[in-house]
Amino acid sequence: MRLPLFLAALVLAAPAAAQSPAIPDHELLHRLAADVSPEAEHATIARLVGFGTRHTLSDVASDTRGIGAARRWVADRFAALSKDCGGCLAVETPSETFTGSRIPKPAQVMDVLAVQRGTADPDRVVVISAHLDSRVSDVMNATSDAPGANDDGSGTAAVMEAARVLSRHRFPATIVYAVLSGEEQGLYGGHVLADYAAAHNWRVEADLNNDIVGNTEGTSGLRDNTHVRVFSEGTRTTETPAEAEKRRYNGGEVDSPSRNLARYMDRLADRYLTNLDVVMVYRTDRFSRGGDQVEMLKAGYPAVRVTEAVENYRRQHQDLRIENGVRYGDVIEGVDFPYLAQVTRLNVVTLAALASAPAPPSGVDIEGAVSSDTTVKWKPSPGAAAYRVWWRGTTDPQWRFSRLVTSLTQEVLKDVNIDDYFFGVSSVSADGSESPVVFPGPAGTFEREPPTRP
Ligand SMILES: [Zn+2]
Repeated sequence: MRLPLFLAALVLAAPAAAQSPAIPDHELLHRLAADVSPEAEHATIARLVGFGTRHTLSDVASDTRGIGAARRWVADRFAALSKDCGGCLAVETPSETFTGSRIPKPAQVMDVLAVQRGTADPDRVVVISAHLDSRVSDVMNATSDAPGANDDGSGTAAVMEAARVLSRHRFPATIVYAVLSGEEQGLYGGHVLADYAAAHNWRVEADLNNDIVGNTEGTSGLRDNTHVRVFSEGTRTTETPAEAEKRRYNGGEVDSPSRNLARYMDRLADRYLTNLDVVMVYRTDRFSRGGDQVEMLKAGYPAVRVTEAVENYRRQHQDLRIENGVRYGDVIEGVDFPYLAQVTRLNVVTLAALASAPAPPSGVDIEGAVSSDTTVKWKPSPGAAAYRVWWRGTTDPQWRFSRLVTSLTQEVLKDVNIDDYFFGVSSVSADGSESPVVFPGPAGTFEREPPTRP
């Protein structure tokens, strides 16, 4: 097929094991990053804190206090942004009624979503999410002031700022801005989102779940405003026993689609952001703790958790108080807005890159046992003008070698021994937008598989 000039030049010039052959920077991604405003995010969090508490079981009738007022304000903000972009956002409020150990009486948990429909492949969806609900020391206390400025006012501000910046542009895939509820009571809003995605047959390529993303002063006194942690599961939550057996033998324990999404974010940060580096953490979430991305993973959707580099436990899940001269509580003074803007830029750049690129390839497979060469195969991805075959040593954290190819279905890597590397493929559009790398087989596919758990 006819190649855009820069792709043709790259393919001709690509040596056998080129290290990350350069695709030109996307000017749009730089511009989007520059559009993110810490002042806008400050205004959002100040408004959220003003609702007193946003506890899931708080008052829903009041116009000034509680979760009901807060979510109506979010919906109004999305509607106002939509007005500015010619109706480009559809505001949806899916809800379900739950009871549980932290919801003693049946309670409605309602999410607020803004859906920016893709121009080419609207069922392909990338999501940014955060939780609106807040809490104090007692998770059942629905009346005391619970400002939740950082947990998770910061994530909510990131979602709304991403909507403000990205809704001025059009993308081939759909972007969903998701403000969830019920997280502190048991990840219910994540569950509602996953159910909504399944009911609408969304092909969710990524959920970037932002929970606690605005603090830079750790409890220990350590300050860090140049790193952000991206947590990702190593193997798919929905993997079957048969898939696990094959994966244990041939590898893939560190190559779930969520993990390769984390690697994608790490590369984008290196390329498009200044003074913010991604620290990949090879865990689903922080040790023995949870977030809404877990419900998306259970439903078979790739998802990561984005969290500040250092947490301050005096400002999380605390009654507002001063004890022995130490101030406790999740107040707005604990949010570092230039840092929150940096984390938001990472999200904005990632969403735009994903939504601009073709879908990641499906049907990725490798062969080459008892041979000096490795053959990498895949199925064509709609909208792809080229593919990039990647490989790395089996202990390398990040993809290391790559070759841009114009073949639509396979590439033979001469004298690259299959035993010694992990392999993957990304799809590349005519303008150079690249998808995340897909590891072969069920371990690495971005396609949803039916959940194996209830
Ligand atoms: Zn949280």
